[in-house]
Amino acid sequence: MQFRRRNSRVSVGPIQRLAGGTAGMQFCHIAFVVSALLSTACSDVASPDAPPFKGEVVLRFEGEVPDGEERHFFLPFEVPPGVAEIEIRHDDLSARNILDWGLDDPNGFRGWGGGKGDPAILGREAASYSYLPGEIPAGIWEVVVGKALIEEHPARYAVEVVLRATPTLTPQPMRRPYLSSPALETGARWYAGDFHMHSLESDGSRSLEEVVALAERRGLDFLMVSEHNTTSHLSFYADLQARHPGILLIPGIEVTTYAGHANAIGVNGFVEHRTGTRGAKIEEAIESVHRQGGLFSINHPQMNLGSLCIGCGWQHEVDPQTIDAVEIRNAVFNGFDFWQELAAAGSHAAAIGGSDDHNAGTSTSPISTAIGTPTTLVYARELSVAGLLAGLREGRSVVQFQGPGGPMLVADLSGERLGDTVHADRSTLSVEVIDAGATTLNVYRNGILFDRVVVEGSVFTYRSEVEAPSGGTEDRFHFEVVRAGDVLAVASHVWLRASR
Ligand SMILES: [Zn+2]
Ligand SMILES: [Zn+2]
Repeated sequence: MQFRRRNSRVSVGPIQRLAGGTAGMQFCHIAFVVSALLSTACSDVASPDAPPFKGEVVLRFEGEVPDGEERHFFLPFEVPPGVAEIEIRHDDLSARNILDWGLDDPNGFRGWGGGKGDPAILGREAASYSYLPGEIPAGIWEVVVGKALIEEHPARYAVEVVLRATPTLTPQPMRRPYLSSPALETGARWYAGDFHMHSLESDGSRSLEEVVALAERRGLDFLMVSEHNTTSHLSFYADLQARHPGILLIPGIEVTTYAGHANAIGVNGFVEHRTGTRGAKIEEAIESVHRQGGLFSINHPQMNLGSLCIGCGWQHEVDPQTIDAVEIRNAVFNGFDFWQELAAAGSHAAAIGGSDDHNAGTSTSPISTAIGTPTTLVYARELSVAGLLAGLREGRSVVQFQGPGGPMLVADLSGERLGDTVHADRSTLSVEVIDAGATTLNVYRNGILFDRVVVEGSVFTYRSEVEAPSGGTEDRFHFEVVRAGDVLAVASHVWLRASR
């Protein structure tokens, strides 16, 4: 999910020809629109004889949003050597249009603020929310603009790029390159967590500290902060993890396109989200996640909230076998039918859940839930990123729709299990239902109700003998606990194939 706040725009004020500082004229005639030829306008910027960059220079862009199919456009500008900090102020100049904003340096990604109106500020030792601190290389940078919602024509924009010789942000020594944490706990068991939440590093309203503290209070073993298209939060992970040693922080981002959102679970590098622009394809995003050792999990695939959540329903056509997981529950929204359609098309995607909490549990909206609701349990050999990803790859997950402490389901088939698939001609299907109270267990075979039984007692065991399908095909079983029509827990598929 991605919340849109139409009234949060920050005006950059009237566009001026030149402002702030004295260094501007030293390297470039700086007042131009995007159509200007930068190489001409700033031809002596990088000259070795040029005097050192001093003071502050403001570049201004103002223009019409280009028409066309591509949902992004780029505003290039040249950064001379010696710049210590860059600030991008931007405005979509409309109460109805929504533009997204990001920044690339000559080597690639430097941040994505999405639809937030706040300026982007970044220097060597600090950056504002959603942006990456680090060296400021000389060369061509690009403001990246996404056409999130264009209702008013002609759509216009205004951007000011401020180049500074002296940084204004206070250094952030707690930021460090992401490094995977060692296992916090060894031993195989079900670990409880949440794969989907946001902080101030994207469109959430609470700090990372508040997000982690709430996950701890809810008794979770792990959490993944899934900011929209940015990795800026990951440089705080080492510091957070050291101060919260009881809960594992999983790296990841929410790959947020205009035709669907997906979590890149276990990923700490950029994933191309600008599908349809400059030839970028969703398949490349999926490959990028896999190349980085992560899982590609489709978020809230059936959500349709119009302009409140742009691109939230999944519309990309993808190879089902490349999808590793699906959010069958996002806050109060189900993705169950999508998961089943994908499975019928050959996907072995695990079922997971995500609160998509943007407010560290403080929202009173009826469509919001706090971190941990739903809870996803993953059976893993240890509490580590690698352990949890391996558990998901084997389809060992259970989603508790109402949060931690809900009924638990442990389902399996007898026989030789490889990953999420059991190889046996005949098999005993067993399901243990724990702490469910007065509920019903539904067993599904290939998405169709196979059996329904009343659950009794604090530990209830269900058994059934099943035969594998013939002809080299496979059947899938999944399980849910229901009370008065409300789904309380769903266990991922176990697949059955005849012996090899
Ligand atoms: Zn989303
Ligand atoms: Zn989200």
